Amino acid sequence: MSDCIFCKIANGEIPSATLYEDDDFRVILDLGPASKGHSLILPKAHAANIFEMPRDLLGKAMALAGDIGEKLVKGLPCDGLNVVQNNGESAGQTVFHFHIHLIPRMKDDHAGVSWKPGTLTEEDKQAVLAIFGK
Ligand code: 5GP
Ligand code: ZN
Repeated sequence: MSDCIFCKIANGEIPSATLYEDDDFRVILDLGPASKGHSLILPKAHAANIFEMPRDLLGKAMALAGDIGEKLVKGLPCDGLNVVQNNGESAGQTVFHFHIHLIPRMKDDHAGVSWKPGTLTEEDKQAVLAIFGK
């Protein structure tokens, strides 16, 4: 994808604060961090979202989230970590190249990764179970 900024960052055409790199991924610091150490796991091969990602690479990406996340939490003054991954505009995705956010957290930091809990209705439950033939 010649016009994709994360393709250019992931492949080193645009410089970035890189925490980790291998053949498939680059992990960088987010330029608009929710907290100190907010990082992004970027695949080097373009995929717009989770649905386009090869499943074996999704497994690797999640393993990386564990490894890099653990290092961040041990190295920073923080005691928690949000692993966030947005797909589609309605879900908050603004850069359409798959990425996983690693957001270090501390109690009362107001970093704001949350939602308002609703109620699981019987109608909704049956509708979603039906998608899976249950
Ligand atoms: P999304 O909203 O798509 O889940 O997340 C996009 C993230 O990419 C945002 O947190 C934003 O701050 C970050 N971002 C956007 N452009 C750049 C950039 O050029 N460099 C870096 N390091 N982060 C970026
Ligand atoms: Zn891309």
